[in-house]
Amino acid sequence: QPILVIKDMSIVFSSPDEADIEAVRQVDLTLTPGKTLALVGESGCGKSVTARAVLRLLDRNANIPRGSILFQPEGEAATDIARLKQDSLPLRAIRGNQISMIFQEPMSSLSPVHTIGDQIDEMMILHEGLRPKQARERTVALLDQVGIPGARQRADAYPFELSGGLRQRAMIAMALACTPQLLIADEPTTALDVTTQAQILDLLRQLQSDFGMAMLFITHDLGVVAEIADEVAVMYLGDVVEQGSVYDVFARPSHPYTQALMSSIPKMARKAERVRLSPIKGTVPAPKDRPVGCAFTSRCPYAFEPCATIRPERTEVGGGHHARCHLLTRQPVEAVA
Ligand code: SF4
Ligand code: MG
Repeated sequence: QPILVIKDMSIVFSSPDEADIEAVRQVDLTLTPGKTLALVGESGCGKSVTARAVLRLLDRNANIPRGSILFQPEGEAATDIARLKQDSLPLRAIRGNQISMIFQEPMSSLSPVHTIGDQIDEMMILHEGLRPKQARERTVALLDQVGIPGARQRADAYPFELSGGLRQRAMIAMALACTPQLLIADEPTTALDVTTQAQILDLLRQLQSDFGMAMLFITHDLGVVAEIADEVAVMYLGDVVEQGSVYDVFARPSHPYTQALMSSIPKMARKAERVRLSPIKGTVPAPKDRPVGCAFTSRCPYAFEPCATIRPERTEVGGGHHARCHLLTRQPVEAVA
């Protein structure tokens, strides 16, 4: 039973003196409890915007003119988050409580002027009605669970008194304070050194199996996808061009963009050989210059007649594995004699 179903969702940015820009174009994504979906793509592809839309944390000039974001925790009625009013009660009940978010920069969710213990206590008092003493007990247990040594003393530390890795752990504890059913992680390990990054990924995996929550994980790094995700959706210039289980997408990348991404990372099994990088030719066009057809047309080595003008359908290439590319539906040029 999925907990979040994003269906046919577009996100449009408008500005007074330019044409509207459809930054995210009719995406479909499904999240399941206990599973991680990674949204992967280069910067500016719309992955963060998509994630923020789930909490309606979009800029003022952005809106969701079509599609739905159906959130349905077990045993509850479904809510279309896309249609909730900003600052409405149901939206506030969901934010930070049923769905919470962690970021690359912990200071975007931690306050610099309060101790981490006070901040986490406050979440529990506010959302779950705990008394301060109960809240502190749970805070200490949680800080311990996210691997902060000396949790009871550390609860009285201010964020600036912690190392980068511990701050990241404190932010994760804060996000889990109300045991969310869905955790959204926007590049939470990107700013960390390799060792700390591996530790935080391990921690998130562990917490996910402890809490059984669904996770939407944003990254530009296919190595991280392989580490943490069950499912992956590849974004390019506002389109989800391919999605499926990590196994299927890595074993049989079916969209030329995914294939190019794959060939540009060193093969993990052959790290020692340092497989040569083959970066994708050209640059990502600005969203306003995206062709009406396939978003990848200007960089695709296989582009052919319909690509620039006709948008490829979402085509199934295997059980639950989809891609949007005309090559997948092209009729053979000649019949085999
Ligand atoms: Fe390339 Fe055309 Fe497929 Fe797009 S639809 S990825 S341009 S072949
Ligand atoms: Mg981003």
